[in-house]
Parts: sequence; structure tokens; C-alpha cells
Amino acid sequence: MAVILLAGGAGYIGSHTAVELLNVGHDVVIADNFCNSSPEAVKRVEQITGKNVKLYEVDITDREKLAVVFEENKIDAVIHFAGLKAVGESVQKPLVYYRNNIDTTLSLMENMNKYGVKNIIFSSSATVYGEENPVPYLETMKRGVCTNPYGWTKAMMEQILEDAAVADKELSVILLRYFNPIGAHESGLIGEDPRGIPNNLMPYVSQVAVGKRECLTIFGNDYPTADGTCTRDYIHVTDLAIGHVKAVDYILNNRCVEIFNLGTGTPYSVTEIVDTFEKVNNIKVNHVYGDRRPGDLAECYANADKAWQVLGWKTERSLADMCRDSWNWQKNNPNGYNN
Ligand code: NAD
Ligand code: UDP
Repeated sequence: MAVILLAGGAGYIGSHTAVELLNVGHDVVIADNFCNSSPEAVKRVEQITGKNVKLYEVDITDREKLAVVFEENKIDAVIHFAGLKAVGESVQKPLVYYRNNIDTTLSLMENMNKYGVKNIIFSSSATVYGEENPVPYLETMKRGVCTNPYGWTKAMMEQILEDAAVADKELSVILLRYFNPIGAHESGLIGEDPRGIPNNLMPYVSQVAVGKRECLTIFGNDYPTADGTCTRDYIHVTDLAIGHVKAVDYILNNRCVEIFNLGTGTPYSVTEIVDTFEKVNNIKVNHVYGDRRPGDLAECYANADKAWQVLGWKTERSLADMCRDSWNWQKNNPNGYNN
């Protein structure tokens, strides 16, 4: 079994991935500065698994401080989750986004180089397909024109990692393009804990259901889709986390430079999400239809075949599971980790 460094591992996807890695017997080291997370999430990971996590509070852009993590642990692979991810904020503060997201990547890669760590798995996003590629998205399509600085940081970091693998024939890189992760661990102990007003759909829906927010605005119902609202490829965060375990198995056994879509391949509309959430949880979600949100694509979903063919991974959890687990987390932790 291997030692896996999760950069940004205290966050939403990182904490769920830590659980699944620990469950199959890997050792997990987490480095995080908690700029969008809480050390409590790591305690809960330990509670769920009954195993210890080695935790470092460190700004990953600080190459010298990060070196301590590499010095003190014999790391076999890095999973790079550390980044800022709010699309709207990235438009307001592009320099902050470019500085943080690109520098975390460079600082990790430089330390990997110095300490002879040859495997990196990167949290990319479906956003890199841009506006011009048709759905369903395939890994063989060219990266498109991104609609915001957040998306550009992902496209640039993919390029940086690919270039590094050209220069270093021993370096293996896996780019995981996530679609729309929602849901939470079935225990209800870890989940998504956004700061302030949620930007994403599911946390907003959950906060309306729990009474923290009055009403969900559905952004646009005049799109060229079946019910007029946008469709996305929502994926249960536990399925996504298991995808990382499969990617770790693969990278530890193959010299590779690979891209994988992590999605279900099945799109659902905003209205379907709200309806399913209400039905499986037997709770009302007040909502109104409003204007389109600038930059939103009508449709976004994966062709998920490659991950199945190469990694032997596919999703197993339904939309009902996603809605049930999101609500289970929200109602047990109405204030997230600050209970
Ligand atoms: P998150 O904000 O919950 O987790 C990111 C973690 O990185 C946080 O714990 C944060 O504190 C940490 N971090 C950020 N900058 C850091 C720095 N300089 N030093 C140390 N730690 C730092 O986000 P998430 O939803 O878990 O997403 C994880 C990754 O996946 C991100 O890179 C995100 O862009 C990407 N992604 C997320 C989604 C999504 O919908 N959640 C979709 C596609 C891609
Ligand atoms: N959405 C919405 N109301 C909200 C938040 C999101 O109608 O308060 C819609 C949004 O327009 C998009 C879908 O929900 O069609 C998913 O949005 P999210 O921000 O979660 O993901 P992304 O747009 O990044 O795929």
C-alpha cells in the first residue's frame, strides 16, 4: 500500500477521497491551509475510517514550507485538489485565482522533482471543454475557450502538467475532469460546506430546504433543453472519490499521461434536481424561475466510457442517492463544520 499526499485534502472532494483511500489501506497525508475548509473535516475522516491522517497546515504556494511535508514523508503519489474554485469570484479577482492556482501547482511539481516523486493526479474540470465542443464531451476533444479565469487556470495547469511530463519521461500525470459533484458521505459526517452564499446548485437547494435561505432562483427556463432549464452531469462525491482510488492504482502501475472524464454520462436538468430532492426527502424547496446566469452552457455532460475501459470505474449511485445524502449532511450539520 502507498503513501498518498492530498494537497487541499481537507476540502469537499479531498475529504471524501481520503476516506476511500484509507478504506482500501493506503496511508494519507493532507496538506491544506484551510482557506476554504476546516480541520474538523479531517477529524471526521478519521472518525469514519478509524484510521489516522497526517495533517499539515501549510500554504501550498509556499515551496519551502511545503518541502517539509516531502522531507518527512515518503510520498508515492500526489493528488492535487488545492485551488480556489468559485467561478464568479474568479471574474472579480482574476489575479488572486491565477496566483493561487498556478503557484500551488508549480510549488507541488518543484517539490516532487526535488524529492523524486513521479506520480501526480490533478483535479481538473469539464469547464476546459469550453463552449465550442459538442456534448457529450470526449477526452480526445481539444481544450476549448474557457469562459472565466477559474476555467483558464484549469486549462493552464493541464498544459503545465503535460509539458512537465514531456520533459521528464519518468513523470506520470493523470488529469481528472470532474463534472458536477454533489452529495455527501452516507454517514452524514462529511459534506460540502461552502462559505457565505453558495454559488452551486445543490448546496443552495439544501440551504433552502433547511430554512437558511428563502428561495432558490432557477437561472433560466428558456434553454433549448427538454424542460428549458440547463442540464448537467451530476455525480455522487463518493463515486468521484472512488474514481481517484482507481486512478491511484493505475498511476502506481503504469507510466502514463492520461485524461479521464469523471461523470455519469447522464444529464439531469435543474428542475429534475429540485423535483427529485423534494420527492426523496419529502421536503419542499421554494423556487422561482429567473434570468439566465451569464456564462452558463445549456448542456454539459460526459462520455464516461474511457474511465470504465481503462480504469474499470463507473458510477454506482443514483440521483436519488445524491439528493438523499446531500440532505442527510445538511440537516445533521446545518452550520457545516461550525456546529
Ligand atoms: P474545496 O474548496 O472544498 O477544496 C479545495 C481545498 O484546497 C480546500 O480545503 C482549500 O482550503 C485548499 N486550498 C486552496 N488553496 C490552497 C493553498 N494555497 N494552500 C493549501 N490549501 C489550499 O473544493 P473541492 O470542491 O473539494 O474541489 C477540489 C478541487 O477540484 C479544486 O481544485 C476544484 O477546482 C476542483 N473541481 C471542483 C469541482 C466542484 O464542483 N466541486 C468541479 C471541478 C473541479
Ligand atoms: N443554478 C441555478 N440556481 C442556483 C445555482 C445554480 O439555477 O442558485 C443552475 C445553474 O444555472 C446551472 C446548474 O444549476 O445550470 C448547475 O450550476 P452549478 O453552479 O452548481 O454548476 P456549473 O454551472 O458549474 O455546472
